[in-house]
Amino acid sequence: MHRLRLIAQPSTSTRSVFFIGKRMLHVSPQSCKRTQDTAPLYQLHARWPKANCPSCNAPLTTSLPTCNNCGYIAPLPSSSKVDYFALFGLPTVKTNENISETEDITRNAFNVDPKELRRRFLQLQKLCHPDRWAQKSPEAAEAAAGQSALLNKAYQTLLSPRKRGEYILSQHGVDILEADNMDEEQDLMLQVMEAREELEEAEGEEVKELLEVNRERIEKATMELENAIAYEDWEEAKRAVIRLRYWESFQRAGTQQDVDH
Ligand SMILES: [Zn+2]
Repeated sequence: MHRLRLIAQPSTSTRSVFFIGKRMLHVSPQSCKRTQDTAPLYQLHARWPKANCPSCNAPLTTSLPTCNNCGYIAPLPSSSKVDYFALFGLPTVKTNENISETEDITRNAFNVDPKELRRRFLQLQKLCHPDRWAQKSPEAAEAAAGQSALLNKAYQTLLSPRKRGEYILSQHGVDILEADNMDEEQDLMLQVMEAREELEEAEGEEVKELLEVNRERIEKATMELENAIAYEDWEEAKRAVIRLRYWESFQRAGTQQDVDH
């Protein structure tokens, strides 16, 4: 569970500021402290944006332009225009804009609680489930199908630490090309090749052991990715993603080998 962490305890009585989507939120040091003791990070950050239904004016219950009250539904913009974090009401990609050092709260977008993500996914999915909207009108059915598809894509992206890392990088204009894999340090290449050879020769329990060792590699690379994102070291984050790609691919190959034999 991720708890609220402060880079520096606010030494003055100034309030901390952070963003949820485009909405700014002010938190007094007192409320930070209380939250730190009692609530996980996301309970403070993760609130659905306050918006009202354009049709009946009732408060919308989630980030979706979908109303439980009157049956209003509108299509979401295309995938590239939707912030996946905001869609789930989670703190969006870190921005230091307007935040002084003493006021800053660590808002590493990489810190996602999978259980909370799942809970929110189910809540959103229920609201725009195509079965609910199929009979309403062709437009409503289409909007619901679009929302549902984008929701699935966003969920899969944020659920996987590697894909989440890639997404955060792409939000910062850093794309990882196939060619980048080649530029990665020789050490890693050698390590991957050796591990692959070892795996090919392994049988039964040996495979399980190699998979266990590799799980630790994945864990380590995931932690390195999290740290790199926290420090906004995009080059290091990129290298961590590449390491993850290799070790996840190794894990898939090993798991397959384990099943086949
Ligand atoms: Zn409504």
